[in-house]
Amino acid sequence: MSAFNSEKVLTVHHWTDSLFSFTTTRDTSLKFKNGHFTMIGLKIDGKPLLRAYSIVSANHDEHLEFLSIKVPNGPLTSRLQHIKPGDEIVVGRKPTGTLLIDYLLPGKRLYLFSSGTGLAPFMSLIHDPETYEKFSEVILIHSVREVKELAYHDYLTQVLPEHEFLGEMVKKQLKYYPTVTREAFHNEGRITDLIESGKLFTDLGVPPLHPEYDKGMICGSPAMLRDLKHILEARGFKEGNTSTPFDFVIERAFADQ
Ligand SMILES: Cc1cc2nc3c(=O)[nH]c(=O)nc-3n(C[C@H](O)[C@H](O)[C@H](O)COP(=O)(O)OP(=O)(O)OC[C@H]3O[C@@H](n4cnc5c(N)ncnc54)[C@H](O)[C@@H]3O)c2cc1C
Repeated sequence: MSAFNSEKVLTVHHWTDSLFSFTTTRDTSLKFKNGHFTMIGLKIDGKPLLRAYSIVSANHDEHLEFLSIKVPNGPLTSRLQHIKPGDEIVVGRKPTGTLLIDYLLPGKRLYLFSSGTGLAPFMSLIHDPETYEKFSEVILIHSVREVKELAYHDYLTQVLPEHEFLGEMVKKQLKYYPTVTREAFHNEGRITDLIESGKLFTDLGVPPLHPEYDKGMICGSPAMLRDLKHILEARGFKEGNTSTPFDFVIERAFADQ
């Protein structure tokens, strides 16, 4: 059996000149856990050109959804950004990754720290009822440079709280904290600065980070991962992995060249 499925693009949404999302059909044999990433791409001259992508949709959804950057001259995304409904994309059949709630010890609050397209795996996790069963508060933090890059903002603030099955849990347990670093917005600044200054906790009305009650997941640029990991470790948090659950887990939203 091939390591890849061929899926049809259903919808495409361009958020900005450098950010878009799309949905595709989903082969019923594709299994994944919420928070996983898989390899996706296009066939170029008969050969697959693939990159790692976090899955935005939840594992109970019928379709697949992805959130993508458009890198100028990027081998994949300079092409992928032009997909239209009906086009075919290649989707790897072996999703994997470390951003699973199974890899965290039990706690009260789950912090989902993301920047840019690092939001993608957390969109999947906040659609999983198990996330709300395991944590009484789920705090989704999304940092971007400009307001228009806050993908899914209106969905998160207006649609998800009214969701037929998840709405009640979302209203009671999910706190969404978008923050913008290069424009005026009601929350401004880098996540690391918001933690160090304590503003994040004041704004959210929660106590400062403590490993006994708080657990975390981080998905963002390599620099953001490094800085946040350092901040959490300085507060006594220990990093978990696929074999040993602990206080926080991390995954790169992309690799530096
Ligand atoms: C575990 C994992 C999960 C990923 N999930 C996603 C995802 O959900 N959505 C997504 O768009 N990308 C994701 N990526 C990045 C993705 O694999 C590709 O790098 C990206 O699609 C660009 O492909 P490319 O061939 O056009 O350019 P590449 O040659 O792959 O990248 C060129 C350069 O562009 C920059 N870049 C790449 N991706 C991003 C990004 N997402 N945000 C900001 N800068 C970037 C980097 O500096 C990189 O060196 C993920 C990467 C990893 C390792």
